[in-house]
Order: sequence, then C-alpha cells, then structure tokens
Amino acid sequence: MMRSMHSKTPLYYPLIALFGALGLIGCATHRPLRASFLDVGQGDACVLQLPSGKVCVIDTGGKLTTQNDDMGRRVLLPYLRSQGIQQIDILLLTHPDEDHTGGAETLLKQFPIHTLILNTAEPSPILQTLHTIANERKVSVRYAHAGEWIDFQDGVEMHILAPSPTLFTAKDNNKSLVLQVKYRKTSLLLTGDAEREEEEDLIARKVPLGANLLKVGHHGSHTSTSAEFLTAVHPQIAILSAGKNNRFGHPHPEVVERLSKAHVQTYRTDQHGAITCDSDGESLTCTPYTRLPQ
Ligand SMILES: [Zn+2]
Repeated sequence: MMRSMHSKTPLYYPLIALFGALGLIGCATHRPLRASFLDVGQGDACVLQLPSGKVCVIDTGGKLTTQNDDMGRRVLLPYLRSQGIQQIDILLLTHPDEDHTGGAETLLKQFPIHTLILNTAEPSPILQTLHTIANERKVSVRYAHAGEWIDFQDGVEMHILAPSPTLFTAKDNNKSLVLQVKYRKTSLLLTGDAEREEEEDLIARKVPLGANLLKVGHHGSHTSTSAEFLTAVHPQIAILSAGKNNRFGHPHPEVVERLSKAHVQTYRTDQHGAITCDSDGESLTCTPYTRLPQ
C-alpha cells in the first residue's frame, strides 16, 4: 500500500478518460450547478451537483466524540439520499484533519464512490486507512497537484490551485487543496483550511483568484482570509462553516468584520444551517436553510 500511497499518477489523464467515457459531452441541460454547504457542526462538507448530474463531495465533516458516529452517517448520507443521488463521482478531501475527513470512512463503506482525491501522498494514518478502504471497495485513488484541472464537459471545470510544491513542508492546513470551480461566468473558491501562508503563496504565484463565492478558509479563523487575499478573491458571497459555540471561537470576529466591511454577503452554517447555492452560469444565488431575523 505504501508504494501506491507514493505513486503520483497525473490527475488529468484518468479523469479525462473517465468523463469522456461516460459520454457526457453535449448534454443539453437546464440544471444549475448546485453547491450545498452542509451543517456538519465544527467542520466542512460541501456537495456539488453538476448540470450533467455528476456529484462531487468536498470534505465530509468530522466524527462525533461522544458516540461511535460521524457526520457521514448523520448528515451526508441522509442528504445524498434526499437528493436522489446514487453515486459520488468524486470524493475530494482537502487535507487529513479529522473535521474534514471524519465522515469519509462511512461514505466509502456505505455509498458508491468512483474516485477518491487526496491532497498528498504523505502517509498520514487517516489517509492510509481511507486509502486501504478505497482499495477494498474498488474506488480509484488519485493525488491532486496545483495546476491540474478536471473538465466535466458540462460547462463546469474544477481547477486545483494549491498547494504548490513550496508548501509541501508546511503544516497540514497550508497543504489544503484549494479548488476553483468554474461554471461559465461564475466561480466558487473552496479553500479547505488554508491559512495565511497558503494564501500568500497563491498571491505570490499570481494565481487568478477572483470568485463569486468564497468558502472561507479554516472556519473563519483569524489565521486565514487576510485583507490582501480577500481583495484578490473579491467575492460577493462568503460561506463560513463552523460549529455552534465551538471551542475555537470560529469564526473570528475580525474575519466577520472584514467580510462585512468588504460588503460580502456572508452565510454561516452555525446560524443558517445548510446553505444551498445555485449557479445558472450567469449568476449565483444562495438560500440558507434558516433565515435569520433582520
Ligand atoms: Zn478544519
């Protein structure tokens, strides 16, 4: 297994082959690109439903400490079933932290998944376990690298913006996969737990970061979402994924204020519950599960 953990198969070859083979080209569809940011308490989980019907899950929330349970079982499985989804085409884990990967084992064991994408071939215990389960379940495993992208051939492209090789020795959060999901004129920037170091690397490499929606890095911690980064992304909408009364104090009031001063419409999973964002390719609209009193 260690050999395959270290093998670095280019992401684009197998994925282009996969989606070409499935014959998605030219499907006229009026379905939007839907990104649902689920309320998984302190953690991240996003389900992308593409116009072609493809489904990508980005992070899976965490485990529950008091019971032998996790957000995969509690939140993701019921949500996927409620949407009539029968297969996850891509399960992507931005980095190994438990609040992002805690539900992945349940999904791998209980839901059909085609491809698991991980951020690093470093042998972290969590990723090793997930890799083993994926092998047992005949789920293919890929490691994504900055500069790679997936063309879903329905107007949606997913670009891997980070981490660049200069961050390979950084701490876990700063090796988060940073994704830009583009659908015609709209785009979403999903940053995992990227902190300032990774943000600065993106800016230094002059990566185009502009996006209509920013999934704010590291649950709104003050170590992320610098003023420079926010200027570079210039989002209209921000999503903060954090647990109610979490012990880390996420999101940090400074970040909330920075977003507010930049006139970014901000939604929080700890206050709004799940947030569903639809793009028709021209514009993006988000609907929170709970509307707060004005
Ligand atoms: Zn996290």
